Amino acid sequence: MNILLLGSGGREHALAWKMLQSPQCSKLFVAPGNAGTSAIANNVNINPTDFEAVKKLVQQENIGMVVVGPEDPLVKGVYDYFKNDSELSNVPVIGPSKYAAQLEGSKEFAKKFLVKNNIPTAAYESFTKETVEKGCDFLTTLKAPYVLKADGLAAGKGVLIINDLAEAQQELRNMLVDAKFGQASTKVVIEEFLDGIELSCFVLTDGESYKLLPMAKDYKRIGEGDTGLNTGGMGAVSPVPFADAEFLEKIETRIVKPTIQGFKNENIDYKGFVFIGLIKVGNDPYVIEYNVRMGDPETEVVMPRVKSDLVEAFKALHNGTLAQTAFEIDERSAATIMLVSGGYPEDYEKGKVITGLDKVEDSIVFHAGTKDDNGNVVTNGGRVIAVTSYGTDFKEAIKKSYQNIDKLNFDKIYFRKDIGFDL
Ligand code: ATP
Repeated sequence: MNILLLGSGGREHALAWKMLQSPQCSKLFVAPGNAGTSAIANNVNINPTDFEAVKKLVQQENIGMVVVGPEDPLVKGVYDYFKNDSELSNVPVIGPSKYAAQLEGSKEFAKKFLVKNNIPTAAYESFTKETVEKGCDFLTTLKAPYVLKADGLAAGKGVLIINDLAEAQQELRNMLVDAKFGQASTKVVIEEFLDGIELSCFVLTDGESYKLLPMAKDYKRIGEGDTGLNTGGMGAVSPVPFADAEFLEKIETRIVKPTIQGFKNENIDYKGFVFIGLIKVGNDPYVIEYNVRMGDPETEVVMPRVKSDLVEAFKALHNGTLAQTAFEIDERSAATIMLVSGGYPEDYEKGKVITGLDKVEDSIVFHAGTKDDNGNVVTNGGRVIAVTSYGTDFKEAIKKSYQNIDKLNFDKIYFRKDIGFDL
């Protein structure tokens, strides 16, 4: 079967790498892809949210399955576009419906779903421009720090955590009255602050049954010791050492099962990955957020730990056979370290030649922001390359990645040297 994968990051390179291990994948197209995916698959330069262009490609190349990497096409309804088009409805799309994608696209929608299904999460209320003063009063009933979230997608910048009450009230006005985050902050969710350590849970579901993927922990800040600006992610490890069997059991019974049951009860059409952002408070898991796709760089440690045929599992989502499909996990640990362009997540330069790629041994190089430039692989984004390794434990995996990173270089290369050191 020919398969189309939408997206261009390290997540997509890792998904492509995994899907190509399946005997069921004859030809893989990636739109638009990067230098890493072009080395193993066929890049096609189309925008994943241009559904007409996607349709044309699917028909031209006789594509039998579409796998969606990033959230944008899902929130914009790529699943429904295929389902409702008589020429495309036989091509399965791996991802949720537009309605279900609101779990990521609207924080208020996600909070309502969580509360309705009795899933542990921070207490909250949501406000609009009309109720801004009520929101300011509500803040006075909470303890600092105050958590303000723009309802819609704001590229990871829409969540503010503020210590001072007056400042929080001012920011609430900025978001609601002055549209600080544009359309995304026409509603704001204010929630109780949860103090704990974060981790990510990944599930593959057909909306009725599910398979658990390996858990992962990522490192969001640019600086060592988790300091400085937020990034897309600077590294990740899997499994998560502080998530023992008892804690994993709590996640499955209190969070995963009621989430899938909620999909069933509400007839939510969901055939894809669910990424559940969790926080461990004491010994209990709480949901911080849902994402309706895999995480990046978590995919770069999760996919290497999936032993079973991923394409087979994707097919099972649409055939209704997921419950009977084998889904085995590799016992080994995996760690990934992200190499980024100096200056990221603020201004940075592109087009720097990457050297040493052919010298890497015993690690997997997943490309993120790279492109081919007349035979050279050059940087083409903030996050450039993720170096993933296996180990009998996460420390060994991390060590291997750092050893291989020594062989790689580009002008103004930067990476965190402390991934996993807190565990
Ligand atoms: P965006 O919509 O802008 O992309 P996001 O989806 O990343 O943002 P969240 O995951 O909800 O937003 O929050 C971002 C981060 O803020 C979390 O990873 C967590 O560190 C912190 N955070 C969010 N909610 C809480 C909370 N209730 N208590 C403590 N920390 C929180």
